[in-house]
Amino acid sequence: MARCADVLVIGGGPAALCIASELHQRGVAVEGIALEPVDAAWPNTYGIWVDELKVLDLEDLIEHRWSDTVSYFGAGGSEAANQPLLHGIDYGLFDRAALQRYWLDRAPGVTWHQGSAEAVQAGPVITTVTCASGETLHARVVIDASGSRTPYIRRTDLGPVAGQAAYGVVGRFSKPPIEPGRFVLMDYRCDHLSDEQRLEPPTFLYAMDLGDGVFFVEETSLALASGVPYDVLKQRLQQRLDRRGVQITEVIHEEFCLFPMNLPLPDRSQPVLAFGGAASMVHPASGYMVGSLLRRAPGLAEALAAALADPSLGSADLARRGWQALWPMELVLRHQLYQFGLGRLMGFNEQLLRRHFATFFSLPREDWFGFLTNTLPLPRLIGVMLRLFALSPWELRRGLVLGAAQRQAPGFRR
Ligand SMILES: Cc1cc2nc3c(=O)[nH]c(=O)nc-3n(C[C@H](O)[C@H](O)[C@H](O)COP(=O)(O)OP(=O)(O)OC[C@H]3O[C@@H](n4cnc5c(N)ncnc54)[C@H](O)[C@@H]3O)c2cc1C
Repeated sequence: MARCADVLVIGGGPAALCIASELHQRGVAVEGIALEPVDAAWPNTYGIWVDELKVLDLEDLIEHRWSDTVSYFGAGGSEAANQPLLHGIDYGLFDRAALQRYWLDRAPGVTWHQGSAEAVQAGPVITTVTCASGETLHARVVIDASGSRTPYIRRTDLGPVAGQAAYGVVGRFSKPPIEPGRFVLMDYRCDHLSDEQRLEPPTFLYAMDLGDGVFFVEETSLALASGVPYDVLKQRLQQRLDRRGVQITEVIHEEFCLFPMNLPLPDRSQPVLAFGGAASMVHPASGYMVGSLLRRAPGLAEALAAALADPSLGSADLARRGWQALWPMELVLRHQLYQFGLGRLMGFNEQLLRRHFATFFSLPREDWFGFLTNTLPLPRLIGVMLRLFALSPWELRRGLVLGAAQRQAPGFRR
C-alpha cells in the first residue's frame, strides 16, 4: 500500500507554509507539494499593521516599520486639501525570508515534494493527487493552498470577480516622492489628473520610505472587475510624480500586482479543503490576508488534528470538519457584509470615495482597525457599519444604500 499522509498541502506560498506548520505542531503527519523549492524566495512583499503581530508576539518578523503612517483624502492642490490624515498606528513590512523560515522551522518533519499537482481525486477514504511527473501522492485529506487561481476548489459563479491591480516601483528618485520616514496607506489626491481621468476608476498611491534613499511607490486600484490595466496605472503614477516634480532616477524593481478581492466563498461541502487565497481568505475590503493566516491557521489545525484522531473518518468527513472550522457561520456572515460593502463602494466616484474614507478613518481607532483586520465580532461589525452610515453625508448615504451610477474602484491597499 502506497504511503498515505494525514494531510497533503498543495502550494509553497504563505498559506501552505502556515497551515503545514500549525498541523505539524499538533502532531499531524503532513506532506506538501509545491512548484518551487519551499525555501525559494517569494515574489511578493507583505505589509501588515504591527499591532496584528504584537498580539501574536511576532513583531520580530518585521523588517521595516513606520510610525509616521498617513493617508490623503483631500483632492490636493491647496494647503488644506494636501493635509494628511494621521493613522497613529505602526505599519510594517515583513522580512519575507524570516517569515518563511519561521514557518519552515516550526515544521521540520514535513516532507515537501517539488512538482505540480495536476489532478485531485477524493475517494471515500483517501484523496489522491497526481503530479505532472506522473507520481501519485495520497493523504486522508488534501488542503489546496495553491492560491486564488486554483482549479481544484469549487465555488459558486457570481459573475465577474473584482481584482486589485497595482503597478509599483522600488527605486531612487530625484527627490523624496513622499516625506522621508513616512508610510502612505492611501493617497487619493487627484490634482495631477485631467477632468476625463477623474471620471475614470479612481486609483491611489501606496508608498513607503525603505531607507538609504530608496522608496517604494505604487499606483493602486482595488477592486474593479477585470482590473485596471498596468499601462493606465503606470501612466497615472508618472503623472503623480511629475506633478510633484519628482523623477525616477533608478528602477530597482517593478511590481505588477493583480489578485481577486471578492472571490466567492468555496463550496463548503466539497471533499477537498483549502486555505489562503484558494479559500477566499483575502479581506474583501482591504486586500490583506497574512494576518488572517496567522490568526486562523491554529483553529483549522486544531479541528483537523481532532478529527484525524478518528480513523473511521474519510476525506469528505475530514474536509467537512475543516470547512466548519475555517468558515464558521460568523465568519461567512462577516465576509458577506464586507462583500456587500465592497460592491457599494465599487460604484463610487473619486470624490465620494475620498469622503467615504475620510469618514471611515474618523471612526474610533478600534473600530476602523477591527474592520480592516476582520477582528470585530459580527454584532460590533454591524454596529460599526451603521455608525459609518450615520456619520456619512447624504450623498454618501445614498451611494451606500443604492450603489452609485459609476463603476469605480475603491479600496484599501495591503
Ligand atoms: C503582489 C501582491 C502583493 C500582496 N501584498 C499583500 C500584503 O502586503 N499583505 C497581505 O496581507 N496580503 C497581500 N497580498 C494578498 C495575499 O496575501 C497574497 O496573494 C498571498 O501571496 C496569497 O498567499 P497564498 O499562499 O494563498 O497564495 P500564493 O502566494 O499565490 O502561493 C501559491 C503557491 O502555490 C504554488 N502552486 C500553484 N499551483 C500549484 C500546483 N498546481 N502544484 C503545486 N504548487 C502550486 C505556487 O507556486 C505558490 O507557491 C498580496 C498579493 C499580491 C499578488
